[in-house]
Amino acid sequence: MSLDLKNKGINTRVTHAGKNPDSVHGSVSVPIYQTSTFKFRDADHGARLFEGEEEGYIYTRVGNPTVNTLEEAVAELENGYAGIATATGMAAVTAIYMTYLESGAHMIGTDSIYGSSRMVIENEFSRFGVESSFIDTADLNNVRAAVRDNTRLIYIETPSNPTIKLTDIQAIAQIAHDNDALLVVDNTFMSPILQNPLALGADIVLHSITKYINGHTDVVGGVIITKTETDFTRIRLVVNATGGTMDPHQSWLVLRGLRTLTLRVKRAEENAQKLAEFLEEHPKVEWVRYPGLPSHPQHELAQRQMRGFGSMISFEIKGGLKAGKVVMNNVRIPQLAVSLGGYESLIQHPVSMTHHNIPPSERLKSNITDGLVRLAVGTEDVEDLQADLEQALALV
Ligand SMILES: *Cc1c(COP(=O)(O)O)cnc(C)c1O
Repeated sequence: MSLDLKNKGINTRVTHAGKNPDSVHGSVSVPIYQTSTFKFRDADHGARLFEGEEEGYIYTRVGNPTVNTLEEAVAELENGYAGIATATGMAAVTAIYMTYLESGAHMIGTDSIYGSSRMVIENEFSRFGVESSFIDTADLNNVRAAVRDNTRLIYIETPSNPTIKLTDIQAIAQIAHDNDALLVVDNTFMSPILQNPLALGADIVLHSITKYINGHTDVVGGVIITKTETDFTRIRLVVNATGGTMDPHQSWLVLRGLRTLTLRVKRAEENAQKLAEFLEEHPKVEWVRYPGLPSHPQHELAQRQMRGFGSMISFEIKGGLKAGKVVMNNVRIPQLAVSLGGYESLIQHPVSMTHHNIPPSERLKSNITDGLVRLAVGTEDVEDLQADLEQALALV
């Protein structure tokens, strides 16, 4: 009896999404098909598989049962047509660019997206004649003004990193489709639990699986989910041919992490809301950005397009970078490391770390100030996190 997940709750779907390919031994855990290739029953069978007349596995770069289970699971959680797992999040980003941006094409991106997602376009795809405009997509007028005849993609991240600015997915989807462009959303910060861009009109969603979906800070990976079969087929061909695919063991680890996604996301979010409120009241803190605070300029949009506010907080400590360094060097629970979405809290300084390769003038345009600290809240006890931040702030 197969389980129909339609109309089931999110906890049931996270627990059971993705078919177990083992029909022989009945293993409850998905087996790791640690093989590079698959043998054919006979020559005709091989020919039918290559011809696409029969479904089956040929070679792991092109398809593998363990990888496929993960792809099915994430596609189910994003309500997409199908998923494509990739070696890293950046392999997913690059595959999307490669599929839709030819020489002479133009893309519009959120100015403060993940640093490498912007760098790949400006430093590498520009060499092949791809044009780009990185703008503040929170302002819809900026987006309308940036559209050109050759605009193929609008690529957004919401909330953006590290400024926690939101972009209205539904409104941007309208602008994209009015101009024959596709809307791509990097949904890494929200995970499929808190935001589903395809349901709001996006055409393609991607995640750095490294973050919330895997959640254990021990794997890098990515995934792309499309709304249509056409886009799925196009991207799948590019990923398979260029080789950015995920491997079976990596997929198995991610599936293991995925099963607790809801628990982790909800727990971290509860912690983040309390810490954001605590930091906002703190005399040593200039300001706090967290979508769950009524002081967030887009709190209303957050309530409309997200099912929760996530666990990423940005804040500015009074005294700028020097004071920020005191806090980062003296907290004991959050570890000083880039990345996010794991069970443990991490703290980092975007200007000297994740966003160091963006010129200072561009950074300031995107409000990435020198004293901005990014806190990725984990699943620890919130009382301990608060006391730890309190003692570190007292040293400023
Ligand atoms: C980490 C991250 C990426 C890149 O993913 P990798 O797995 O590190 O290659 C892309 N987008 C966002 C929002 C990220 O946080």
